[in-house]
Amino acid sequence: MRSLRLFALGVCMLPWVVAIPATGEEMTADQIVDRYLEARGGADAWRQVEALEMKGTFSVVSKRSDFTLIRQQSDLYRLDYTMQDLPAIRARDEEGPWMLNAWLKPEVGRVTEDPYKKQLERESLFPLLLLDHKKKEIQVEYLGAGDIDGIATLDLKITLPDGQEETWHLDAETYLEVAADSQIYDYTQLADPIQQRIFYDDFREVEGLVLPFQIEWEFWARLETMTVEEVSINPELDVSRFSAPPTAESTGSQTSALELESQLIELREMGLTSRNSFEILKSLTTEVGPRFAGTPGDRAGVEWAVRAMEEIGLQNIRTEPVQVPRWVRGDETGEILAPYPQPIHLTALGGSVGTGEEGLEAEVVMVSSLEDLATRSAAEIEGKIVFINQRMVRTQDGSSYGQTGIIRRSGPARAAEMGATGVLIRSLGTGTHRFAHTGSTRYEEEIEKIPAAALAIPDADVLETQVASGQPVRFRLELGARRLDDVMSATVIGEVVGRESPEEIVLLGAHLDSWDKGTGAIDDGTGVAIVLEVARLLLGLPEAPRRTVRFVLFANEEFGLSGARAYAEAHEDEVDQHILAMEADLGPGAVWRYRARTDEKSVADAKQVTRFLAPLGITWHDTTAGGGADLSPLRKKGVPMIDLSPDATYYFDYHHTDDDTLDKVDPEDLAQNVAAYTVVAYWAAERQGVLGRPPIEEANP
Ligand SMILES: [Zn+2]
Repeated sequence: MRSLRLFALGVCMLPWVVAIPATGEEMTADQIVDRYLEARGGADAWRQVEALEMKGTFSVVSKRSDFTLIRQQSDLYRLDYTMQDLPAIRARDEEGPWMLNAWLKPEVGRVTEDPYKKQLERESLFPLLLLDHKKKEIQVEYLGAGDIDGIATLDLKITLPDGQEETWHLDAETYLEVAADSQIYDYTQLADPIQQRIFYDDFREVEGLVLPFQIEWEFWARLETMTVEEVSINPELDVSRFSAPPTAESTGSQTSALELESQLIELREMGLTSRNSFEILKSLTTEVGPRFAGTPGDRAGVEWAVRAMEEIGLQNIRTEPVQVPRWVRGDETGEILAPYPQPIHLTALGGSVGTGEEGLEAEVVMVSSLEDLATRSAAEIEGKIVFINQRMVRTQDGSSYGQTGIIRRSGPARAAEMGATGVLIRSLGTGTHRFAHTGSTRYEEEIEKIPAAALAIPDADVLETQVASGQPVRFRLELGARRLDDVMSATVIGEVVGRESPEEIVLLGAHLDSWDKGTGAIDDGTGVAIVLEVARLLLGLPEAPRRTVRFVLFANEEFGLSGARAYAEAHEDEVDQHILAMEADLGPGAVWRYRARTDEKSVADAKQVTRFLAPLGITWHDTTAGGGADLSPLRKKGVPMIDLSPDATYYFDYHHTDDDTLDKVDPEDLAQNVAAYTVVAYWAAERQGVLGRPPIEEANP
């Protein structure tokens, strides 16, 4: 049987043949069990197993999602999976079995009644049922030869000490499980037992143990499939992971849990059906328009926001002063002078220095990234205009913006360091329209500030093709950009004051400023409209939520995060009272997933919101919520966050361009955002308990 060692991972069927006893020789049940254990890697190997962790996918009711299964000595057991987007857990801790089935009940429950209790006890038996079965008082009887779907089997009747019976069908050649039959009871249906057959397949060796990587449960007409992708033998498992969280019953809040549930559903429906958020956005983009930091539009935006909060009836409305840098774009033009002269659409990067009236003329050196730039010689770069031609790709989560953003932020400084006289970048954008995408760049101390602009995407294509012709390309750039003295702006804040714990704060934010180019409809008028509409809906409740919900419209996010920094400084003393922060700043697409950032224990809590978000088409994603840019100072201080991610597939077609206007916003999608934010904000402000704070070092990636 040492041939098991030769068995490679990834092969589906076991290729070797175990010696079959000579014809006529009938095996005893014990002999079969011995061969079975040998085929599974050997009894000795299994006796060394103290804990197991498995991960993979589990399809329940034909929907596939991830599962994690942890098991440990003393029959500690926990299976986390998803049923139709709602979290589900089957577990056993030292006190006995417990479970969560969010479809039946939002809270975790102890399983105390038979036959369900027995069933979960059976499921948690560790590590292998027939290992040392006599000691465990498990009876095994050989029933004779059988057949499952054409596979010859040896069938065993197994009786557990508590009287539960199973029939196992072992492969007559390999002695591994083919199937097992038992009677189970469904949680939704008392009395009648259901016949269940479990199929085992795809046995693989992991550190000397042989385990099935594919398991299927067949009962009624249903088939649930578990596909194992990862197995860890004897991982370090924190025992607390097996423990049932305190139940609603034990905290005496059963009634309030039900009230919370019906209130959440009502708020969600109100959010979905109202089109008021679009009216708010229309008002902001029509009556104010662009709100670039320090401009008259910025001031008009602050006045508009205060008025809007007053009209809604928020409490504690105030403006908190923020000093903002002032930068003026001026006129800007670009043209290729040679080899094939033509005008080029471009725009200065925010904060760029100007070229002076004489303009800047130089030969172009094209690089594909900052890494590529770093490999060039100073002689190649000196006196040239560096064209950083890195493409952003279209993604639903907008992650490509994060990956390419560095060329805009640091490209000019890196090129200047090598002696370049100017920088052009391919716009950080998707789509093909002829609008250049602006966005701030960051000069560095002691490195010369050189003019920098972004080319519209079709214009970047033209420049790329001309450079690729191999002939020297000369470019002329004129930027009228200039810096003025800093001025004052303001972050606008209003609250729904909590009825029981007003000192505890759920923060919901967006940024009030925009770039100077469009009307700031999608960046971030959308966020402003969401924040104000959530506020309006919460004010319509018969009573304020338990905790305070604070609505924050940050000053100047785009050109240096001044509002975010000022807020974190001004509210340093109450950072610990922020029990949750969220920001809407990734455009107006419908929300498709959510993420959280909490301590490990609270992840299950955060997942519980899924049942209220799933009807909106939103699914749980992971624990890497980052908040928006305005929340980064709070994130670094360990404030728990939840991100509701809008579909950003088309966001970067318009982002930071002249084309960021109201017509890009779908009122229905905007309303779906409002519904989602209202649900999470109210859930956090009203529920028993708060999410645990993520560790600071983790919160500071
Ligand atoms: Zn933004």
